[in-house]
Amino acid sequence: MSGREKEKGVNVQVLLRCRPFSEDELRSNAPQVVTCNDYQREVAVSQNIAGKHIDRVFTFDKVFGPSAKQRDLYDQAVVPIVNEVLEGFNCTIFAYGQTGTGKTYTMEGECRRAKSGLNGELPQEAGVIPRAVKQIFDTLEGQNAEYSVKVTFLELYNEEITDLLAPEEISKVALEEKQKKPLPLMEDGKGGVLVRGLEEEIVTSASEIFTLLERGSSKRRTAETLLNKQSSRSHSLFSITIHIKEPSPEGEELIKCGKLNLVDLAGSENISRSGAREGRAREAGEINKSLLTLGRVINALVEHLGHIPYRDSKLTRLLRDSLGGRTKTCIIATVSPAVHCLEETLSTLDYAHRAKHIKNKPEVNQKMMKSTLIKDLYGEIDRLKAEVYAAREKNGVYIPKERYYQEESERKAMADQIEQMGITIETHQKQLEELQEKYDVQVRQCSDLSTKLTHTEKNLLETSRLLAYTEEELKKCRYENALTQQACALQSDLEKALKDNTSLFEKISREDKLHSDNRSVVNSFHSELCQQIGCLRSIVANSISQQDEHLQCVGKLCNSFRETHDKAVKEMKKKLTNTRTVYMSHIEALQNVVRLHKSNSVAGLDEISTLASSNAQSIEDYLASEGVQAASVFDDLQNALSAHQGEMAIFARELRQRFNSSSEQTKQISDYTDGFLSKLMDQSKTIQNHVTGVDNIQMKSIADFQKAYEEQSKSDAEKFLVDVSNLFSNHILRQKELVNTRLDGLREAAVENRSFMDGQVSSLKNIATEAKRKWQEFCVQAESDAKGGADYSAAKHCRMEILLQQSVTNAESAFQHCKKTRDSVNEMCTKHVSSLSSLVRDATDHIEQHDADIDSARTAAEHDVATNNQEILQHIDGMSAQERESVSGILGTVEAHTKTLETFREDHSGQAAVMEKKSQETFQQHFMDYDPTGTTPMRTEPDVPSKGTIESLRAMPMEALVEEFRENNSYDSFEVKEPKTPLVPRSPLAEIN
Ligand code: ADP
Ligand code: MG
Repeated sequence: MSGREKEKGVNVQVLLRCRPFSEDELRSNAPQVVTCNDYQREVAVSQNIAGKHIDRVFTFDKVFGPSAKQRDLYDQAVVPIVNEVLEGFNCTIFAYGQTGTGKTYTMEGECRRAKSGLNGELPQEAGVIPRAVKQIFDTLEGQNAEYSVKVTFLELYNEEITDLLAPEEISKVALEEKQKKPLPLMEDGKGGVLVRGLEEEIVTSASEIFTLLERGSSKRRTAETLLNKQSSRSHSLFSITIHIKEPSPEGEELIKCGKLNLVDLAGSENISRSGAREGRAREAGEINKSLLTLGRVINALVEHLGHIPYRDSKLTRLLRDSLGGRTKTCIIATVSPAVHCLEETLSTLDYAHRAKHIKNKPEVNQKMMKSTLIKDLYGEIDRLKAEVYAAREKNGVYIPKERYYQEESERKAMADQIEQMGITIETHQKQLEELQEKYDVQVRQCSDLSTKLTHTEKNLLETSRLLAYTEEELKKCRYENALTQQACALQSDLEKALKDNTSLFEKISREDKLHSDNRSVVNSFHSELCQQIGCLRSIVANSISQQDEHLQCVGKLCNSFRETHDKAVKEMKKKLTNTRTVYMSHIEALQNVVRLHKSNSVAGLDEISTLASSNAQSIEDYLASEGVQAASVFDDLQNALSAHQGEMAIFARELRQRFNSSSEQTKQISDYTDGFLSKLMDQSKTIQNHVTGVDNIQMKSIADFQKAYEEQSKSDAEKFLVDVSNLFSNHILRQKELVNTRLDGLREAAVENRSFMDGQVSSLKNIATEAKRKWQEFCVQAESDAKGGADYSAAKHCRMEILLQQSVTNAESAFQHCKKTRDSVNEMCTKHVSSLSSLVRDATDHIEQHDADIDSARTAAEHDVATNNQEILQHIDGMSAQERESVSGILGTVEAHTKTLETFREDHSGQAAVMEKKSQETFQQHFMDYDPTGTTPMRTEPDVPSKGTIESLRAMPMEALVEEFRENNSYDSFEVKEPKTPLVPRSPLAEIN
């Protein structure tokens, strides 16, 4: 602890912890409004105010975001505090925040759930209290020091203090009473407070702490609020006091004492928000009393007000030393990240931020001599003994309860008054000091003022002297001013004249320059002109010679053109005559071809006519011979047909006879078969009769036999019955049975035999009737077939006859037709020959006509060719004459042009010489230069005094002078100043430059 820190104090350390989202909040998807930046120690709260998004950022000494673990918070923030406690400081840690934001979690942790850590390790969820106890024990054990650790755990609820560590056994009887009866808060006479009757538990190891916490926490009064059912509405204070033995250099043993207060405050939310109901409104108000007072104390400390209302609540009384006192204090503010806690979060942040400005002046507790401590303890023991004794013997000072309370309250009021008075004295003292200081200042100001007064008097004398002098000067100045006015007028005139002069001189020099420039321009123009005329001359000469050459060329070209033209005309004429002769020879050849064709055609026609007549003759001959042959063939055909007819008739007759005989035979066979079948039927009938007769006989004989046998056996039996009834009855019975079965078999065989015979006979009968029916059917069919066949052959014979008749008539008609055909062919042949000969005659006539036509066309063509030839020749002659004429015209023009060129050249050279001469004359003789006369005055620079210098001769205007004077000699500064030099002390009309 540095001296400076001791003087100025150290700020309360403020940490912020933001818990993670609870499961409920996660389920309802509550938006996050708080973001923590652990590294920059900043907390940002996002708000939407009137549709605007606003981020508020708070900075704290340390910030722990939702991911920070209990261990992180402890290691970073609490470890140094506990170390200071071990060094003998008193330290307090508050947990402040809305219900449900993790105050209890931070201070105590969830140690109930994970009660025992493995091999002395704390569970992860353990809060500040168990960790601090563990650290204390670890350190002390590590130092091998002699020590004692005591803890107290009290609750402040509704402005009443309860001991959370009160032993159960004692309170068992009057538990109710004890809970109702609060512990009194007493002044300890050394400026502190103590809770009378508070149980101090000696702790010897860290593991005991869980039991203690468990015991205490279970006693904490909790009431239901809408925000958090388990949340405590009370403040709790857990204190650890450590005494450590330290040997001093003098050999005397010293006791070092440190105390750590761990405060879990009630929820910071206001009444309306926590939803406390009527009965608990007062409770909420009382709880708020402690909280509100805490807030007011913080405000008063931050704003350095004179009176700090510690005494207004028990909480502030208990923790007085931790707020602006000698204790080191740390506040852990807890907030929720969710939006529905936004309002409370902001108020918590504001509150915590304000608390940052509280300054404490931590001091190490005075180390006690062991002997003093022991003496104190003895004193305490004596006091307690007396109390116990008094209680036991009831002979102590005993006062009625009401009086005790009255006295107590009076005493409290007095103590309050004393405190109030102390504070008033303090403030009065302060005021007195301030007044004394003010008085000193006033005295200092008085002495300053008297010295200033003497200065001022001195200055006044000086000033009046100066004033007289100045008045004189003023007169002089007025005169001087008039002179200066005049001088100024003159000076301005002179300046104007000089300006005119210089402008005139400048004009002359400009003109001189212009003249010389003109001279040089003229000279250069002359030389250029001469040069250009020479150029022009040479160009003209060149051009003329070129034109001459051109003209000669044109003449030559004309002549050569005339020659070639003549030659071409001659050649053309020759070609024309050649063409004509060729044409004639071609025509001749054509005529020859025509003649040849004609002779060929005539010969061909003759041949055709002879061929046609011979053809007709041969056809006639052929037809005649063919006619004879056809007649013989027809005769043969007719004979064959009649023979055919005869044979046909014979065949038909024979066929009919055969048919008739075959049908007769069939009839005979049929009759026979019929008789045979009826005989067969009769036979089968007789067999049947025979069979029935046999069967009847057989049956009858069997029955007879049976009857006879039965009668025989009956009588036999009766005879022997008596004798051997017993012996033979069985044998007889068996014999009878045997005979019966044999007879039955015989009968059955007979029946069977008969039924078989019956079947056979009936089948035979069926077959016979079937065969008879079939045969009859066949007979009828055969008869009808024979009849049909005879009819059919007769019809066929008739048809054959008709066909033969038809063939004969057909042959006859064919013969007639053949004859007719021959006649018509003959006729056609003759007709054909006659038409052919007429055609031949016509063709020869046509050929004749053709010949004549060709002859006339030839003569016309020859005539046309001759005339055309003549015309072309005449045209060529005319053209060549025209061309010759135009060529001679061109030649004449060329000659004339040559002549004009000659005259132009002469004219041009003459004109150029004249121009040259003229320019020579103009520029050398007529253009004149200026001759200087020497009478013009020379340019000079006279010295004229400037207006400024003249003006400076004038005295300054009155106001300026006064002002300057005032400036130099102000009323309030009476020290003698050096007046500024240039203004007054200069005597008028003195030389300036
Ligand atoms: P308070 O004492 O401020 O009313 P609690 O300490 O009872 O609040 O905390 C309320 C709930 O939030 C508890 O269930 C606790 O486990 C949980 N909680 C609080 N802070 C944290 C944290 N930093 N990490 C995990 N859970 C927390
Ligand atoms: Mg709590």
